[in-house]
Parts: sequence; C-alpha cells; structure tokens
Amino acid sequence: MHDIVIRGGKIVDGTGAPAFEGDVAIEGDKIVQVGGKAGPGKREVNADGRLVTPGWVDVHTHYDGQATWDPVLAPSSWHGATTIVFGNCGVGFAPVRSEHQVALIEMMEGVEDIPGITLTEGLKWDWESFPEYLDALARLPRTIDVAAQVAHHPLRVYAMGDRAINREFATAEDIELMAKLTEEALKAGAVGFTTSRTDQHKTLAGDLVPGRYAEHEELIAIGRAMGRAGRGTFGFLSDFDDEAAEWKWVRQVAKESGRPAG
Ligand SMILES: [Zn+2]
Repeated sequence: MHDIVIRGGKIVDGTGAPAFEGDVAIEGDKIVQVGGKAGPGKREVNADGRLVTPGWVDVHTHYDGQATWDPVLAPSSWHGATTIVFGNCGVGFAPVRSEHQVALIEMMEGVEDIPGITLTEGLKWDWESFPEYLDALARLPRTIDVAAQVAHHPLRVYAMGDRAINREFATAEDIELMAKLTEEALKAGAVGFTTSRTDQHKTLAGDLVPGRYAEHEELIAIGRAMGRAGRGTFGFLSDFDDEAAEWKWVRQVAKESGRPAG
C-alpha cells in the first residue's frame, strides 16, 4: 500500500518527453512510481483532466520578508513552485542592526515595489546576524521549501553603518568584515550572494543602492570568501556600461572562488 497515489493525471515528467497518462505513487517523502497503474494508496488524489508536474524551483523571488511570517507563500505555492529562492538583486533583511531596519525596508520598497507598510507590520526582526535570520525562517512551518541568499546591500550597511547609506566606498576593514560575514552565512546555509550595480535600482528616497558603490576589489574579496566556504552562487545585475570591464571582474570572481558567477 502506497502512502499517496495521484491517479489518472496527464504526467509531464520534466525530461522533455511528451505528456503521458498514468499514476504517480509516493511512499514517505519519495516518489516510487511515475506512470502506469499504481496499486492502492492510503490517500488517493483524483487528477483526472489535470496536469501532474514536478515542482518548480523559482530562483528569483523577493520573499525575504514574507517568508518570515507566511507559511503559505502565496501566490508562488498556488502556481506550482515548490522551492523559492530569495535574497536577489542585493536586497534583503539580514544581517541588520536595529537602527538600520527602516533603511532596509525603504531599500526593498524602492527596488522591488513591495509596500513598506506591509513589511513594517510583518517583520518581527527577531534576528541580527544572517545565521539568526536562517533560524527565524526555520521556526515557521512550511508549505514549500525556501532558500536564502546573502544580499549585498544589507551586508554593506551592517559592515559600514551610515557610511553605506551615505553611498561611500568601502575601506579594507569593511571589505574584510563583509567577506567574513558572507563566509559565515554560507556555512550556516545561505545558497548564494547577490548584488546590484544597475542605476534602475534606487531606494525609496531615490538614491542609488549601497552596492552600486562597491569597487571590484570588494566583490572579488566576497567571491574569495565564497570559495573558502565552498558553496553558493554569485549573482549580479549590471547596466553593462562598460561590458568588458564588468565581465573581467566577474570572471575573476568565478576563477578565484571556483563558484558559479553571473
Ligand atoms: Zn529581483
């Protein structure tokens, strides 16, 4: 007896093969049969006239806030996403000191158009470090899986304080701290690092985001930290005003870290 049998749906198995009719059987947390006629299940789901597909992994979302208070994560979960990745575009909410919580909300509101009032009401801020943020995420029951990336703007504000908000360049000590915190976050479970270098991304007040003022050495140092952690992807956005120069440092990040970058 299977635990769950999904019966009679049109299966799209994710291999590129044409859809086919059949059952899907599940035991525990494993899919044990795809297609054909499955034996009885303790729970049977009638999928007649419906598509049965693998879950989608949505690698670019901005649920950094919502994931801390909403176990359902609609509308992504309604539409078949079974894993969402956030911390994209360099915006997020960890690490953070209490005096910069509002600045991070205004950055998210400016860049991603998520209403600040929703974030202000919803965020409990029961974390400061990135590992503590992951702990806060882990405390909530989940309908779908979540994965968090280290976002450059909050990281920069944490390491540099108001100097990051005032759009200053980072010192060698700032860069060292950002690299150390990135390594720590990856080792705690972050799946990547992202930054934004586009002029399209502005805070609520209309200023360019802090990461826009990162020099190549800062990004390369963060890349090296990813190499030390041995995990994670490096993501960035750019206007590519000087395309050759942009790819030059990205290639260096990929080479020195051994991590995928792009
Ligand atoms: Zn984005």
